[in-house]
Amino acid sequence: MTRLRSYVGGRWVEGDGSVHQIVNPATEAGLAEVASGGIDRAAALQYARRRGGPALRALSFAARGALLQAIADAIAGVREELIALAVANGGNTRGDAKFDIDGAIATLSAYAEIGRALGERTLLADGDSIPIGRTPRLVGQHILVPRQGVAVHINAFNFPAWGLAEKAAVAWLAGVPVLCKPASSTALVAHRLTEVVVEKQILPEGALSLLVGEAADLLDHVDVQDVLAFTGSGATAVSLRSHPRVVERSVRVNVEADSLNAAVVGADVEPGSETWALFVKDVVRDMTQKAGQKCTAIRRVLVPEAVADRVADELVESLRAVRIGDPARDDVRMGPVASRAQLEHVRQGIARLEAEGDRRTGADPVAPLGVEEGRGFFVAPTLLRAAANARAVHEHEVFGPVATVIAYSGQGDEAAEVVARGGGGLVASVYSDDTPFVRDLTLRLAPHHGRLFLGSAKIAEASPGPGTVLPTLIHGGPGHAGGGEELGGVRGLAFYMQRVALEGSRPVIEKILG
Ligand code: NAP
Repeated sequence: MTRLRSYVGGRWVEGDGSVHQIVNPATEAGLAEVASGGIDRAAALQYARRRGGPALRALSFAARGALLQAIADAIAGVREELIALAVANGGNTRGDAKFDIDGAIATLSAYAEIGRALGERTLLADGDSIPIGRTPRLVGQHILVPRQGVAVHINAFNFPAWGLAEKAAVAWLAGVPVLCKPASSTALVAHRLTEVVVEKQILPEGALSLLVGEAADLLDHVDVQDVLAFTGSGATAVSLRSHPRVVERSVRVNVEADSLNAAVVGADVEPGSETWALFVKDVVRDMTQKAGQKCTAIRRVLVPEAVADRVADELVESLRAVRIGDPARDDVRMGPVASRAQLEHVRQGIARLEAEGDRRTGADPVAPLGVEEGRGFFVAPTLLRAAANARAVHEHEVFGPVATVIAYSGQGDEAAEVVARGGGGLVASVYSDDTPFVRDLTLRLAPHHGRLFLGSAKIAEASPGPGTVLPTLIHGGPGHAGGGEELGGVRGLAFYMQRVALEGSRPVIEKILG
């Protein structure tokens, strides 16, 4: 069995100690293994800080942007190979795999473009100069400069390519080296992607390190100039945030965690209308794409009481038609969840939701196409109905092909109050062509979310749906969603940079800004 090696200190290193098997989640066949004992994490971080940091900081934004484009091109060059790996290791259909890998390429390219636009500068002005004295010569000016540490990126299993790229693109453009720790269960794609970037010698030495396997004592060695960006479960986030070294050294932390994303349908939306069709399509896509393992997937579907049965019936019909099986087959639309542990989580989660609601479709056993009986981590798309005052549906994210329909009165204030029970989310969507209703609900939902998707007939044809994260818009959300913020175009750079207020004479400050 191939053991994946880590890339640290400028070389590939094989770990030892406890071994984690990487399997194909459709067939359970072994694909590789990871072990990370014996890897000197302190030295890995120091190498990145000492070699990667200065080399990146010596480059302008435009030059760093050019590196990002070269990486995007290199990934595009092995796109088919990465898609095949994602199908084998992630339970991804070809479409799911493209979503991850093309998303990585697009995000790198978007940040390459931002680098080009920022040009030959090495620091950013944050706002305009501010008069601060009696003479116009004395001004204040905020600037952003790269931090001199390493960006530790701990990623979730569901987007091994995009997850690596969306965090790393922003860090590299800011001038900060990256140590990426992918999730063990789906590490093959991140590992191959790193191999390609290393083989092509695109980045300066030390700008990219990869730690496969357990983080172990990694966080014991983070330091004041480092940042930690984490995507994963809320429970792990709590332990990372409260890690004594992270607290003691005031390490900047960004968390992207669980989210109980809601979709609200307005009372104006007629069954069969364009907006209705958009809403149904988005819910079905979110439930089945990547077997529902998308942090932005719609989990709570709020519909006016009068149409709740109709919505549930239409969703059930579409979901029952989804062909489940080995995602390597062209006729399969939904593969398995990523690991046995996820399968158990999803089953337990469904049981928890079912205790307070009715299951309308989905139940084991599934008979997946092209898979030996009893094999694979398959779950049928599962739709439930629950009352708004059920608890689990607002508290517990079931990270699989699972959503719950909740009836409400059709009033915006009630919908907003029910959505807010989720405790903060990445994205909420409103489907309506009634602009005053949309405006009212937007203002009510906004404090609880990082992004709002406003679905209407006017955008139905062009819409990627609420589940797609765009590099130009921020990704993250308050409370339950982790309290973080990533991407958002140039905004995302600030996390990796130090904002400094300068006070001095205007000509000197203008000179510093270049
Ligand atoms: P997880 O168990 O928290 O793992 C996430 C990452 O943290 C993995 O790389 C994991 O490594 C690592 N990890 C686990 N324990 C750690 C520790 N004590 N110290 C350092 N690293 C540690 O989450 P998951 O089950 O992979 O991901 C699913 C969850 O992620 C879902 O709840 C989903 O909502 C959330 N998610 C959020 C977003 C977002 O953008 N907001 C995106 C995707 C997923 P190992 O794999 O080696 O254990």
